[in-house]
Amino acid sequence: MKIHTRICPVCGSTDFIPFLSCKDYLATEEVFDIELCNSCGFAITQDFPSEDEIGRYYDAPEYVSHSDTQKGIINILYHWARRLALKSKSKIVMRYASKKTGKLLDIGSGTGYFLNRMKSLKWIVTGIEKSEAACKYAKSKFDIDCQHSEYLYDISEKTKDVITMWHVLEHLEHLNRVMEHLGKILKDDGIAVIALPNKDSFDAAHYKQYWAAYDVPRHLWHFSPADFEHLARRHHFELIDIRPMYLDAFYISMLSEKHKGTFLGSLVGLCKGGWFFLRTLGNKKRSSSLIYILKKK
Ligand SMILES: [Zn+2]
Repeated sequence: MKIHTRICPVCGSTDFIPFLSCKDYLATEEVFDIELCNSCGFAITQDFPSEDEIGRYYDAPEYVSHSDTQKGIINILYHWARRLALKSKSKIVMRYASKKTGKLLDIGSGTGYFLNRMKSLKWIVTGIEKSEAACKYAKSKFDIDCQHSEYLYDISEKTKDVITMWHVLEHLEHLNRVMEHLGKILKDDGIAVIALPNKDSFDAAHYKQYWAAYDVPRHLWHFSPADFEHLARRHHFELIDIRPMYLDAFYISMLSEKHKGTFLGSLVGLCKGGWFFLRTLGNKKRSSSLIYILKKK
């Protein structure tokens, strides 16, 4: 079944206009349309496969988020960057959380590297991960408490100090249901740390339909900072800070050049990524990816 969105999940408008046609470069080569809400500007992947059918679109060996393969320059750089990103992710949690330790939930915990780092910093961690293979890996390698997707709705109210979602919310069909639930399970002084690709980024504007972070049909929703702040407000969250993820400009540009079929695409992407990175130093809201730190109102 394909999911056709008629009501904007951010503002409730029913008026959509065409924006881009993008190809699934990773798994199927199928084309999906991205439409814009004519009222608030939020972008959605139209007619995306429902949860029970989307599995095959994740079925690609290059889907590095869920694997530990280290082949090819993009993957090698990705893994190096992941180690660097792990450090900065834990630093952000330590900086914004109201406590030094507590209960942390990571939704879309993948192979468990981030949770393992937080565990070593004395946090009581739980992961939610829909890939059984990734979950199994996290359990056996790091002894992480890893749960299936529906577990989210079994968690007691006001029990989490920190909830993290690193590039996960854009994959979830029930956007508003998840956002509402985050507010329920978070303690009153808790924080949510949510990383998302930025459709207002310099690299998105440059690559248009080739921008790797549109990643259709796996990415269902495409946020700008204004869109996400709007959604967060609707769910009684206050945005306390926005932090850029500088390295994503390099990775996304390299992948986008590959999509375009550019000769020496990785190198060209690396150079352009550097240019986008330099420009975001003075304008973080145009960074390739952004981390939003939210607290309850
Ligand atoms: Zn809208």
